[in-house]
Amino acid sequence: MKLLILNGEQVENGDIVFAKFINNKNTYFANRFYNEDSKKEYFDSKGNNMQKAFLKAPLDFAYISSHFNPNRMHPVLHTIRAHNGVDYAAKRGSPVRSTGDGTISFAGRRNGCGNEIVIKHSNDYTTRYCHLQKFEKNITNGKKVRQGDTIGFVGSTGLATGPHLHYEFKIGDTRIDPIKVRLPSAEPVSKKLKPSFDTLIQENNLMLESFNELSSYENE
Ligand SMILES: [Zn+2]
Repeated sequence: MKLLILNGEQVENGDIVFAKFINNKNTYFANRFYNEDSKKEYFDSKGNNMQKAFLKAPLDFAYISSHFNPNRMHPVLHTIRAHNGVDYAAKRGSPVRSTGDGTISFAGRRNGCGNEIVIKHSNDYTTRYCHLQKFEKNITNGKKVRQGDTIGFVGSTGLATGPHLHYEFKIGDTRIDPIKVRLPSAEPVSKKLKPSFDTLIQENNLMLESFNELSSYENE
């Protein structure tokens, strides 16, 4: 076990295994732990996940060209039609990422959505991606994906005036504005692994005591 962060500076190359920081007089601890599926994640000392279950957006370089709007004039059909998602204008071929861990429940061509991917996530969350130019290889029904994995590429298949990504976010059967939704935290430490996590926390606390020169990182 190595301490790699000192005064907020990385002192050694490698992973952050443990970090303490103070923000508005609140002290936070982030502990690296390999949860179920051996996935590397960061948790607070109680085992709550520090990360969100979903990325804010499925694209890195894009701007919103059309917001979630129940009364939108459709740009191709020229009728009032609910816009149940967010459009991101982006260069054709830009990689589209899964915003959360989940399982592909649909990958194929369908109606106005064009090349479409639907991903089922835990807790009845679903995300949907439309107008893709093509799919990432190996993206088929039933394939498991992780947050940030590339699943396809921006295109203009289906009813689209130009290359963009149409992105939808659903909880149960209700479509939610992905920009306004309060994103849930990722899964906490699993029950099964909680005992070994608690051992890690004890070790991390001992390490913290022995490195009492570790001063707090004041985050403005
Ligand atoms: Zn759209």
